[in-house]
Amino acid sequence: MIEKMEIEKENCCGCQACADVCPANAIQMYADEEGFWYPKTESAVCTNCGLCEKVCPVKDSGRKDGEELYLGAQAKDDAIRYASSSGGIFPLLAQAVLKRRGVVYGAGYDSGMAVLHKRAEDRKQLETIKRTKYVQSNLKGIYREIQEELERNRWVLFCGTPCQAQALRLFLNGKDAKLLLVDLVCYGVGSPGIWKDYVTYLERRYKGKLQSFFFRDKRNRDHGRTRSFAVEGKEVVNALYRDTYCRMYFANYNIRPSCFHCGFCRIQRSSDFTIGDFWGVESIRPDFDDGMGTSLVIAHTEKAKDFWKDVEKDTRWFACKKEDILQPRLMGPVKAAKHRKLFMELYRRLPFSVFEKLVGCGK
Ligand SMILES: Cc1cc2nc3c(=O)[nH]c(=O)nc-3n(C[C@H](O)[C@H](O)[C@H](O)COP(=O)(O)OP(=O)(O)OC[C@H]3O[C@@H](n4cnc5c(N)ncnc54)[C@H](O)[C@@H]3O)c2cc1C
Repeated sequence: MIEKMEIEKENCCGCQACADVCPANAIQMYADEEGFWYPKTESAVCTNCGLCEKVCPVKDSGRKDGEELYLGAQAKDDAIRYASSSGGIFPLLAQAVLKRRGVVYGAGYDSGMAVLHKRAEDRKQLETIKRTKYVQSNLKGIYREIQEELERNRWVLFCGTPCQAQALRLFLNGKDAKLLLVDLVCYGVGSPGIWKDYVTYLERRYKGKLQSFFFRDKRNRDHGRTRSFAVEGKEVVNALYRDTYCRMYFANYNIRPSCFHCGFCRIQRSSDFTIGDFWGVESIRPDFDDGMGTSLVIAHTEKAKDFWKDVEKDTRWFACKKEDILQPRLMGPVKAAKHRKLFMELYRRLPFSVFEKLVGCGK
């Protein structure tokens, strides 16, 4: 069974399915010194049932070959696209599920700006789970909740990283006829602990409560290379590369160790849809390249192709070949920064404001 000391960090993606599935409640998650969650089993409580191993997406990444459909797509309604990180395909799929009186799960913020998965039952709640957050999302309790919704015979859409999606697939163990499983092309997940420190730092610096944070703001029609946030009603807008947290993320410092060994950086998945940014759209369909986002959509299953018929009318789209959609994160995982270890050591020792200047992110 999973013991704290047995876990090799590169072999744990922090999806939390093992903690959720444990019938004895013997597994708790704890944050390590880098701010990532890992499971810890209380041996005295564990009954050795083995369920925790069965739901682990690192052990079973669910590789499946299918008749994939490859598409480039944008929501026709620019307001929908503007309020999303890519081409706005997630909200359209979500609306299709809500129309069937279903429920949608995605990543949002809590009142302290921690990233966690939440449910949406209507369009207003859907607003709170749109847009990319480059922070690992907390799925505590979500697997069980989704299982219960499916048992009530409701449609459920879940959108998350490919490891979270595969963990859900394993958790449900085939009882998922009304689940629409959507996973993301994923660069890697950032540390929730470092994000928390960053939130605290911003709140001190700007003297108030952080109310919103958009990693990929589209106001400059620059493919979301702007980030914005608001503290006490005051908005701060900068280029994405000027943001300290985002610089750490895109330099591969604060990414989870398992992401550097990710087995999901490929086309074959066990999800219904994979969605991401359509890299290179300017070469194959320059007419789609307006700086406001085009989604890459891979429909893996018949269920996905059926849902696509529902949303197709609300999109501008084109079909393409597999070669057209291949981007780095569909071919292999990201590489750790050369000095990641040193980065983490310094991070632990220095106050955020000093550290920020040292890694060249400060003003
Ligand atoms: C950590 C991360 C890394 C990514 N890396 C790439 C990449 O390398 N290449 C690429 O093409 N696309 C990547 N994406 C996907 C891309 O940024 C968009 O999220 C995706 O194209 C969907 O956009 P949309 O406009 O359809 O919907 P949006 O409205 O932008 O919806 C985004 C969806 O992602 C979910 N989500 C947001 N943050 C998280 C999170 N932290 N954990 C789990 N789910 C989350 C939301 O709940 C929502 O369902 C990444 C996304 C994330 C979260």
